[in-house]
Amino acid sequence: MRKVITVLKGDGIGPEITDEAIKVLNRVAEKYGHEFEYKYVDIGGCSIDKYCVPITDEGMEQCKNCDSVLLGAVGGPKWDNVDPSVRPEKALLAVRRELGLFANLRPTKLFSVLSKASPLKDEVTENGIDLLIVRELTGGIYFGKRDTGEEKGEAYASDEMKYWEHEIERIGRVAFESAMKRRKKVSSVDKANVLDTSRLWRKIMHKLSEEYPEVEYEDVLVDNTAMQLIKNPGRFDVIVTENMFGDILSDEASMLTGSIGMMPSASLSEGTRGMYEPIHGSAPDIAGQNIANPLGTILSAAMMLRYSFDMAKEADEIENAVNETLKEGYRTVDIMEDGKTQVSCSEMGKIVADKIC
Ligand code: NAD
Repeated sequence: MRKVITVLKGDGIGPEITDEAIKVLNRVAEKYGHEFEYKYVDIGGCSIDKYCVPITDEGMEQCKNCDSVLLGAVGGPKWDNVDPSVRPEKALLAVRRELGLFANLRPTKLFSVLSKASPLKDEVTENGIDLLIVRELTGGIYFGKRDTGEEKGEAYASDEMKYWEHEIERIGRVAFESAMKRRKKVSSVDKANVLDTSRLWRKIMHKLSEEYPEVEYEDVLVDNTAMQLIKNPGRFDVIVTENMFGDILSDEASMLTGSIGMMPSASLSEGTRGMYEPIHGSAPDIAGQNIANPLGTILSAAMMLRYSFDMAKEADEIENAVNETLKEGYRTVDIMEDGKTQVSCSEMGKIVADKIC
């Protein structure tokens, strides 16, 4: 198969970690006879420095005319005070919008060999943590009408939260379809005791659940979900929720594994194209030192193969290679433990790639 991948390396550690993911993808291409062609586009601060915008129109066209997008991370203190209209994150929101990326998938898996990195007690993690958060990405309060003003000498601000039926149905479908490929359980998270948007959300999810009788379905309130993630994360398989709840819960879930550098994510559109990126930022504090953990980006590349290119076997091979590498005791500094072998970002990428032969 031939696939064109747009690579947005971005800022900070972005270039270091995406290089390692490409190293691994190249090894997969070699082994399985695929051809991956990479098109590089500047995004975020590096694009602001060169072109005064966080992504150029040509760059955006390239994102729209490829099979998938691989992203490192954007931003850093150098661009914290640029004009809000051209901030680095603006480019990410623009790519999500232009590509219609409405579903954000964040798997949270505690690798058994890294169980000590989890802040949770052993008895909570002993049954493993393997859950997938499916977050609605293009609706809700982040995209609603905003208003700020002053009345009777007092300032006010408001953000509207609105959901359309079709937005709820399509994200629900992603969740149920994902559950069918996993342990067949969907937990739909809302605040239906308070919000009308949540009551509509629940109604649509219930209707959808009738189409998937094999999937065990439950409604969970968002506040209860926040507690359950700490108390009993093993009870969850697929969690589906709206934009803001998903933003908060997925960060909480990522900490269950103890290392932000390990976590991949996928943002999907209605077609096969997606954008794949680690969940962390550009880590300016460690940029340029070749010490970042590239595994979140490498696992994001595996998600790209699985979800956009229908290459499940190749994706499994990358995930197994990561698992083996950790089992053999190789660690970047962020996940280093006594008795293990500390390696650099590029060494970690090479060790994983070398397992694919
Ligand atoms: P961050 O995720 O970049 O870093 C938080 C901490 O985790 C830092 O100590 C960092 O060194 C560490 N860390 C992150 N990734 C790591 C990795 N792969 N290996 C080892 N350690 C890692 O979050 P932050 O410091 O709040 O943000 C830094 C910049 O990134 C900001 O400009 C922010 O706006 C931006 N950001 C970008 C994205 C994105 O591009 N999607 C997401 C979040 C933050």
